[in-house]
Parts: sequence; C-alpha cells; structure tokens
Amino acid sequence: MFTKILIANRGEIAARVITTARRMGIATVAVYSDADAGALHVEMADEAVRIGPAPVAESYLLGDRIIDAALSTGAQAIHPGYGFLSENPDFVEAVEAAGLTFIGPPASAIRAMGLKDAAKDLMIEAGVPVVPGYQGADQDPDLMAAEADKIGYPVLIKARAGGGGKGMRLVEDPADFAEALKAAQREGQSSFGDPACLIEKYITTPRHIEIQIMGDGHGNVVHLFERDCSLQRRHQKVIEEAPAPDMPEAVRAAMGRAAVEAARAISYTGAGTVEFIVDGSGPLREDGFWFMEMNTRLQVEHPVSEAITGLDFVELQLRVAAGERLPIAQDDLRIDGWAFEARLYAEDVAKGFLPATGTLDHLSFPDGTRFARGPVRIDSGVREGDEISPWYDPMIAKVVVHGPTREVALNMLAQALGACHVAGSVTNLAFLGALARHDGFGKGKVDTGLIARDIAALSDTSAPNDLAVALAALGALGLLDVPDSTDLFTAFTGFRLWGAAQHLVHLDAGDTRIEARVTLHGAGRFTVETSEDAVTLTAHPAEGAFVRIQREDRRVTAKVLRTGPRITVFSGSRSHGFTTVDPLAEAEDAGAGGDGLTAPMPGRVLGVSVAAGDTVTKGTALIVLEAMKMEHTLRAPRDGQVAELLVGEGDQVADGTLLLTLEPGDD
Ligand code: ADP
Ligand code: ADP
Ligand code: MG
Repeated sequence: MFTKILIANRGEIAARVITTARRMGIATVAVYSDADAGALHVEMADEAVRIGPAPVAESYLLGDRIIDAALSTGAQAIHPGYGFLSENPDFVEAVEAAGLTFIGPPASAIRAMGLKDAAKDLMIEAGVPVVPGYQGADQDPDLMAAEADKIGYPVLIKARAGGGGKGMRLVEDPADFAEALKAAQREGQSSFGDPACLIEKYITTPRHIEIQIMGDGHGNVVHLFERDCSLQRRHQKVIEEAPAPDMPEAVRAAMGRAAVEAARAISYTGAGTVEFIVDGSGPLREDGFWFMEMNTRLQVEHPVSEAITGLDFVELQLRVAAGERLPIAQDDLRIDGWAFEARLYAEDVAKGFLPATGTLDHLSFPDGTRFARGPVRIDSGVREGDEISPWYDPMIAKVVVHGPTREVALNMLAQALGACHVAGSVTNLAFLGALARHDGFGKGKVDTGLIARDIAALSDTSAPNDLAVALAALGALGLLDVPDSTDLFTAFTGFRLWGAAQHLVHLDAGDTRIEARVTLHGAGRFTVETSEDAVTLTAHPAEGAFVRIQREDRRVTAKVLRTGPRITVFSGSRSHGFTTVDPLAEAEDAGAGGDGLTAPMPGRVLGVSVAAGDTVTKGTALIVLEAMKMEHTLRAPRDGQVAELLVGEGDQVADGTLLLTLEPGDD
C-alpha cells in the first residue's frame, strides 16, 4: 500500500479522498491554486503545494506541475478525483512515465470510452445493448438527416466528445434537424474542441439508471448495483438514489451483467460507472435499457452506493491501484436499505439555475458523518466564511441520507435539507426541499422530464409567512442577538434600553418592501405589526444560534442571522432572506440635502411625527410617505432642529418636493 498520495483536485472530493487516506494511514499531499490557499482540502492534507493562479487552465489542469508536486513531496500515487484531469488519458500516461501510480483506470480504457461514438461501437461488439442511432464518421448533414429519418423522431443529437450535459440537442420535428445539428456541432467545437456528433433515438419518458462497477488488475470485476439519477435539470443530476425505485431483480441482474461485460471489454480497473438510458414509460424491462456512456472515474454521486453496500469506494480504489485483489465477490454483495443524495449548490433556481457566488456568512449542517457512511452524511469542501468564487464549481455540499426504506430515507432527506442553513449566497435549498416533498417523486415515479414539467411549483418562492417577517424585523433591530452572557434571564432585554417605544423597520423581501412596527412589552416579549397582520411572541435563546419562539400555544425554534444589512431567517424547513432598508440613505440618494428632507419619489404623506421647532437626532423618523403601495419612513439626515414643516398629512407630493427644512447647522 502507498504511504503517501497526492490528490489532484480541490473542494469536497479532495477532502473526501483525504479522509479515507488518513483512515488508512496514508499521508496526503494537496495541491491548490491561489484562490484556494486557505481552502478546507489544503487545511486537511498533511502537505500542500501551490500549483498556480486561480483559473483552472493555469492550475488544476496543469498535469506537469501536479506530477512535479508529487515527485518533489515523495508521493507515490495520484488520485484525480472527478472532473479536471480525471478522464484525461494523456495525463495518466504522463503520471506513469514519471514512475507514479494513477489511482484510476488504465489510459487505454479511458481512451476507449472517451468518445461516445467509438464507445457505442465497442459496446455493440461486446453485446451490450446501445441506444439505436447513427454514430458514423461521415458527418455530411444530408446523410445525417436521412439517418435521423430512419431512426425515427424524436431524436437526440450529441457531440461525441460532450459531457456535463453539454452539446446535446433534442429534435422533435425533421424541419429543425439541420439547425440543431449545426448548434450541437458548434457547442462540441467550442466546449470540447470536437464538432463531430452522433444521433440517437430519443427515448420518451426516460429514466437514467447507472451501474457502479469496480475492477482489479487480476481480472475481477463486480457491479455494486444501480443508482437512479433521473432527477435532472438540463441533463445534469440534481438528486440521486440507490437502489432504483421499482427495479425488478431480473432487470437489475441483466443491467449489472451488461455493465460488467462493458468493463471487461476494455480491461477496466478501479471505480467506474456505466450509464444506461431506460424506458420509464412502464415497468422496467430486461429489453428496455440501453448503454449511453461510461464515466471512467469515481462519480459525484458515489456516496449513495457506499451507503447501501457498506463499502468505502475510495478505499477500494486505493487497494486496487496498489495491486491488491478486490476484497469482495459479486455473491458477497447485498443491498442494505435506501439512500439519497441531493446536490446543494450556490445557484439561483428562479434565474434558470444561474450559478451564484458569495461569502458563506453562515453555514451549518445537520449532525452526521463527514465523508463517511452514516444515516446523515454531509460531504462539503467549504466552511463558514469561505467564498463561493466564480472560478470553480459552485457546489456547497452533498447531502446524503441512508434509511431502511425509500419512504423513511426520503423523509430523512427532507429533514436534513431543512437543517442545512446557508447565508451569504442564494442556494437551491428550497428547490431541493420541494423536490424531496414532490408527490410523484415520493411515489417513485421518476423520469428525466420531471423537474422541467414541474419547475414552476418546484421553484415557487412563496412569500415569507408572518412569523418569518416578524423574526426578521426583530433581528434587524438586533433584538434576537444571542447574548454573550450565559445568564438567560438577562437575554433579549433590549426593552430596558428602549422603554416601551415602537420602532419601525423597513425590510425588502425580494421585490416586496415591508414596513414592520415593533413594540416591546418586556424581556423577550414583542409585537410586530405589518400592514398584513400582527404577531405577538416571546423569544428565548436556545442552543447555539437558535431562539425558541412561543406564539400563543405553539412553540418553534428558529435562527435569525444578521450580516450587514442582510437578515436570514431559518424557521421550519424554509429560509427567507431580507435586506434592511435604510430609508434615510435612500432619501439621501434621491437628493435630500443636509438641511432639508425631500420626497425620494412621488407619493402621499401618511404621517408627520414632528412639528416646527422640534429637536431631532439623526435617524429620527420624521415623515411617512406612501408610494407605489409601499410605506417609506423618511428620517432626519442629521441632528438638529426642525425649521419649517412644508407638508401635512394627506398631501400628495411630487418626486423631489422639499418636505421640511432643518435649522442650519453650526458648521
Ligand atoms: P457525474 O456524472 O459524476 O454526476 P456530471 O456528469 O454532472 O458528473 O459531470 C461530469 C464531471 O465533469 C463531474 O466530475 C464534474 O465535476 C465535471 N464537470 C462538469 N462540468 C464541468 C465544467 N464545466 N468544467 C469542469 N468540470 C466539469
Ligand atoms: P453527458 O456526457 O453529458 O453526461 P449523456 O450521454 O450521459 O451525456 O446524457 C446526459 C443525459 O441526457 C442523460 O442522463 C439523459 O437524461 C439524457 N439522455 C441522453 N441520451 C438520451 C436518449 N437517447 N434519450 C433520452 N434521453 C437521453
Ligand atoms: Mg452522462
């Protein structure tokens, strides 16, 4: 066995590999770009080597520099993780030429599966069923159109070098074929440097079911059952599960056999995945699955298979790479329970899953294991305070659960997702939560079109409820800040300083402006009124950053975070983001001078709380203006005395109208 390995990757997969290596007594070397100098994987490794600036082409894709790092630190082998150099046969050869071991399949196996067309031809030879289609070298558009007619519409055009869901076009009408072919070729060229395409019959109501395989250098290959990855958006996986719902034993055996044959055909070693497209229009059939492609690496979603088999796939990879025989035979393997994985990303679901960036002001996960099997397993390469940068994949964590049955595991997933608290970036958490509670998914009725069909309901960002708004208002005033003192009786006693006054808070929740009026009745006891409703509650500090809320005869726990103007409320299984608005700053932006207050927008004066001659301090609420159905509180721009009041309640004012003036200041 190796005594030291280098991990040619970053983020959660680097941390994942380091965890198993450490458990096996193997020292680890991390590599990092400038953007990752303080990253988790660097902190976890025994040693780390800088390989270049942030862009991947100048760091994580520089094979030579990574090999140099391994040689100079005395590592004997390189684990590539997934992505980056993991499926680059030239890199594998360079690693071996340097006298190091590549922890993965041989270069020849990667090459054989690297292009989808050649891989399909190989599979046909090996007797593995493939999706009917055309994968010839002749790329003449007319010939390809004729082939598409023969296959029968709808067809799917795929760039043969494609990956990550890119370079694919679904064509339903022959009239659109020529245009779609051009588009797929363009995308193949720009993303993968290869315009060649193949055409496939588009399987309607498709399910994506893949088989995990593992081979050693002694001719042994086993399959570790299937994963269902049908929940996809834009051909990318969102939630994966193992085993697949409603999988008949005979179909499982047939798919497993086909995957093992595929692996044998290319003398595969290490961990790999054979992906099949499956007819999901009815019960799964032995003649209803077809080879799509093989991924010659450890896959993102491997933890669900680890959960149901009780194995550590990174350990198996290391043992096989070190020359050992597989410690398991096909007949030893059993499926234990059910597992799900949800991919938690910094992305804006409402904006078409646009990747997001940001600093993780707050990050907390449910209790559970990290990078190792357990009922709740969180694999995350980032920590609170880390930045989701634009340089790399915006994954925050993989949330993995393992339960005795599908129903229990799915409940566990919903629960675990609800206990993931992220502030500082938009995430897909609410979307994942909605998916975990989706009726059809719950019944196991999955297909690759499910998300697209129900996207509106799944991305429903319903307005925050009255309790969330009330907590945000209290949080904005700092009333729920957990005290440093451990004496809970003195907690939340802001009222002593405040008296029983009312306080106005302005919050933005998405496009909605909320004005909340907060009244303090006593220690931790508040009423929050908005134009919609009034909420009276009592708040007590609870464990960690949580507060316990008693509202009439119901008690809940919640967490309210304040980072700059941002307020994030976690209650129930939802989180809601708010921004505190400073109407003063807004008014200043709108041109209110130091000696006067002008209307920042046209509106109606709802209330005036001062009279000429009154002394005011900076920030005192002076006038409430109603505009565009929202209330805006205008505050004193500085300390001073009101000179002249120019408007009264009920007045309609134009944008920029001077509302009152202050006595000139001393300076
Ligand atoms: P998996 O099949 O393992 O779930 P995907 O098919 O979604 O993974 O992506 C394939 C692999 O390629 C993953 O390891 C992912 O990290 C990587 N990958 C996908 N898109 C990109 C990209 N644009 N740049 C770099 N790596 C990518
Ligand atoms: P990639 O290399 O991008 O992962 P794949 O060939 O694995 O490309 O296809 C990605 C996804 O596209 C699949 O998971 C599936 O959802 C869909 N898909 C691929 N081929 C077909 C097909 N013939 N019919 C229907 N859907 C397909
Ligand atoms: Mg694929």
